[in-house]
Amino acid sequence: MSKRIYLSPPHMGGEELTYIHQAFDTNWVSPAGPHIDTFEKELATYNGMEYCAALSSGTAAIHLALIILGIKHGDEVICSTFTFSGSCNPIAYVGAIPVFVDSELETWNMDPVLLEEAILDRIRKGKKPKAIILVHLYGMPAKLNELMAISRKYEIPVIEDAAEALGSTYFGQKAGTFGDFGVYSFNGNKIITTSGGGALVSKNEDWIKRARFLATQARDAAPHYQHSEIGYNYRLSNISAGIGLGQLKVLDDRVRQRRANFDFYQAALSHLPGIAFQPEMSGSFANRWLTTMLIDPSKSGGVTREDIRLALEKENIESRPLWKPMHLQPIFQQFPNYGGGVSEKLFEQGLCLPSGSALKEDELRIMTILILDLLS
Ligand SMILES: *Cc1c(COP(=O)(O)O)cnc(C)c1O
Repeated sequence: MSKRIYLSPPHMGGEELTYIHQAFDTNWVSPAGPHIDTFEKELATYNGMEYCAALSSGTAAIHLALIILGIKHGDEVICSTFTFSGSCNPIAYVGAIPVFVDSELETWNMDPVLLEEAILDRIRKGKKPKAIILVHLYGMPAKLNELMAISRKYEIPVIEDAAEALGSTYFGQKAGTFGDFGVYSFNGNKIITTSGGGALVSKNEDWIKRARFLATQARDAAPHYQHSEIGYNYRLSNISAGIGLGQLKVLDDRVRQRRANFDFYQAALSHLPGIAFQPEMSGSFANRWLTTMLIDPSKSGGVTREDIRLALEKENIESRPLWKPMHLQPIFQQFPNYGGGVSEKLFEQGLCLPSGSALKEDELRIMTILILDLLS
């Protein structure tokens, strides 16, 4: 059987081992050391952001953002329903209540009209939401102008979950730099990886200092270990940060390569009846972390996304349905939810195609031929 084609495997740039060797040579092999500081500075500079804390995961970054914003037990936090559970699990970590908001069809991200409806309805019911977690899914910027205007109007802070959107821009400004906090992930499947890691960025220096403090077990200034607060073990290791330094060097190449994958699929398949790709609005520049496609069986001659997924799997090619909305997840379905039909339809019809930045043109050709065969 041919070598498996994965959905989004890690893709090393070449210099990562040099940084790892440096870490070993200087014995900075723990969650402290010069690579962490440099990685934070370079990531902040890349995004045009002032301050950055390197952390063990994107989920940890969202958790710390909620704690720093003072979100407590029983508070309500609005979150995109169409996302990965890492966006909203931290709401449960702080004992708060997630309130889910559906997507619009132009970016597949949080619908500004529904967001305002949800805020007004929660206020009417007696509780103003304390934060908004909005997501840029598959690297596609959400309607940030509209969403940020609503956040300002109701004075509700925004945590921008840009875990999938490093390198994407919205009217020239990097995704993750619009909200009060921005979150990135360097998990193994993301556009760049530190083998596992994340980052929290903000324009507020005190908040980022506090994130580093909480991420290193909240140690008070004392010769002994003293704690006045609950801390977390959420810091990135110096070795992982070294991998990150190597990966940052190739980040813009990775964005180019992922966008080229998208262009290839779209050119080969978008003319087929019932096939549609995630749109990119004018002013938006997506990193196209994953190429995602909708298959409408009422127009495709009955072919479903599951038919395509299984046909690819038979050839040892990994593809995956789009994220199952959070309001449909057994663990979250009892929580308030606004809208739902859009993300439900996207989940039903959507498929993520292999999107690794190291994909070769003959691999892309093989996959599009397989899909074309099914659909014509
Ligand atoms: C990957 C991801 C996260 C979580 O990041 P981790 O580093 O895996 O904890 C959060 N939100 C979204 C949208 C993601 O894709």
